[in-house]
Amino acid sequence: MKFLIAGAGFAGSVVARELADAGHIVHVIDRRSHVAGNAYDEYDENGVLIHRYGPHIFHTNGARIAEYLSRFTDWRPYEHRVLGVVDGVSYPFPINRDTLNKLYGLELDEAGAAAFFERVREPREPVSTSEDVVLNSVGRDLYEKFFLNYTRKQWGMDPSELKAGVAARIPFRTNSDDRYFTDTFQAMPAEGYTRMFQRMLDHPSISVELGVEFAEVRECVTVDHVIYTGPIDAYFDFRFGRLPYRSLRFEHEFLPGVTKFQSVGTVNYPNDHAYTRITEFKHLTGQQHEGTSIVREYPEAEGDPYYPVPSAENEALFKRYETLAKDEPGVSFVGRLAQYRYYNMDQVVGAALAAARQWID
Ligand code: FAD
Ligand code: UDP
Repeated sequence: MKFLIAGAGFAGSVVARELADAGHIVHVIDRRSHVAGNAYDEYDENGVLIHRYGPHIFHTNGARIAEYLSRFTDWRPYEHRVLGVVDGVSYPFPINRDTLNKLYGLELDEAGAAAFFERVREPREPVSTSEDVVLNSVGRDLYEKFFLNYTRKQWGMDPSELKAGVAARIPFRTNSDDRYFTDTFQAMPAEGYTRMFQRMLDHPSISVELGVEFAEVRECVTVDHVIYTGPIDAYFDFRFGRLPYRSLRFEHEFLPGVTKFQSVGTVNYPNDHAYTRITEFKHLTGQQHEGTSIVREYPEAEGDPYYPVPSAENEALFKRYETLAKDEPGVSFVGRLAQYRYYNMDQVVGAALAAARQWID
């Protein structure tokens, strides 16, 4: 069979490779000038490996998914650590026992931290919003210090308007584990994401055409099936109105002569600044360089779509588009934008492997 795939990010590239390996002919287009979607990385003009669309750390509990990507890359073990700045002081984030001890001048052990959370939490039933999640676990003071303003800044919405799943990405810990993720597999592609994608797409039955907008070619495609990985509302010409996608503006900066800007990969600024966080790439990549490159993320309503916005209202609107998608002949919708899910990279790989399965004997 012949396939057209719109989008060369994780969704499109994994499906492309699976189909090509199964003997199909695949043409991949992307409106951008590069492959890898939002995971795209590149050397900046000073020779530092950066992630153009913000920091991407690979982590998964899916051994099958790590194994799949390992066909296209070696890995550099990396465990991400994050600090949250409150009133000018840096604390381990996600909140753990050490966060509590430093913030409140305590000397809690694990049982003490658990008892502390139990004392300050505001039980909620049911737990349906992001506000519920945090108040229910750690109470109002920690909510206001670490979550409320970060969430307002990131989403332009109050945590009470966002589904529970957004804040539930962040754990609360009674121990001293200060890793951002606890997945069994945490690593960065040894030569970067872009190189991994190039290898994935390097197959005699895959052709890639960049700088091509799907809308411009959709009328004249002569393939058996289309895999669409862009925003689902755009595919249907916004028939039911726009599905909100949150955007970011990335402010990249190279700091000459600074070997280390901050002590960990990412520092979050819940209450200060218009940006949410600063990431220093050398922590993630392990690169040695006499200077360093950082990125600040400024949330925006308009711009490239980066995040689906998980609210009850938006999910209801998505469901209407999903119904159209199910009846759209010869087209499958895969990925974070097309499925309107707050997917991490590994989840997109999983969704792509599942989507491709029906054409693999
Ligand atoms: P995308 O990567 O968005 O790829 C879609 C591609 O389709 C794009 O290249 C786009 O140009 C193209 N396209 C769209 N519409 C059209 C069209 N009409 N015509 C032609 N081409 C089109 N995940 C993690 O696991 N760990 C992290 O640390 C992490 N950090 C993140 C940080 C940020 C700031 C962001 C925004 C996301 C992060 N993610 C992270 C999530 C990760 O980026 C996504 O899960 C993953 O990239 C989604 O892959 P995708 O193929 O579905 O979409
Ligand atoms: N969050 C927060 N304070 C923080 C970090 C995260 O309130 O210091 C909330 C916020 O709503 C954010 C969500 O938790 O959008 C998920 O955070 P994560 O770091 O997973 O976001 P991503 O890396 O996907 O942007």
